[in-house]
Amino acid sequence: MGALVAAMRSERHRHAVSQDFYRDLSTGQSPDVVVICCSDSRAAPEHIMRADPGVLFVERSVAGLVPPPPGAVERAWLRAYGAATRVFGLRQLAGAWYGAWAAIEYPVMHLQVSNILVLGHSGCGGIALACRRRGEQAALHDTDCWVDMVRPALRPVLRQHPAETAPRAAEEAAVLWSRGNLLKHAGIARRVREGLTSLHAAHYDIASGEVAFYDETSGEFVGLSSEG
Ligand SMILES: [Zn+2]
Repeated sequence: MGALVAAMRSERHRHAVSQDFYRDLSTGQSPDVVVICCSDSRAAPEHIMRADPGVLFVERSVAGLVPPPPGAVERAWLRAYGAATRVFGLRQLAGAWYGAWAAIEYPVMHLQVSNILVLGHSGCGGIALACRRRGEQAALHDTDCWVDMVRPALRPVLRQHPAETAPRAAEEAAVLWSRGNLLKHAGIARRVREGLTSLHAAHYDIASGEVAFYDETSGEFVGLSSEG
């Protein structure tokens, strides 16, 4: 922690020599991209994209999952089960989902950010957990509950891939599943239809530094280095 405190001291110095930049920044934000990614210490989007403060609005969670919008889920439950939904406290149960969505809805709908990037990464522990059966890791009960939402989307991928390629395939599938859930939010879907917001999906390889973006035409993730 000592080294980090020293870094914070030198950051104060950087503030002092870049006063105009930070004074402008203090008056408001207008980020270019909402990045949804994993909490993993090795996959920091500001580092991967060399982005200054104010450029990225970041929502991080284990595995960087975008749950189905809780509002839509709750309305479906209300239609199906009526008041019982309230009795069982679905809103409280969905708290984590609301938390993730608040950090997506706010920048897209309020700050009107025009790009959303869902960014997966290699060696993702959250996705590795999701590839196992629920309950196998008793010490990770809460994490297990969180990643459980993506398990149904990963099952067919795991059936199709051998052990060597399964982790990468599952990481990419989770990114696309999250991207699909963004379109279940009525406001975001409308902004995408009207061309006001674009959705992007990518995978970052920690060892090589390669970032591969999902190409809708080919249906594959294409590395930036292969584009020349
Ligand atoms: Zn991860």
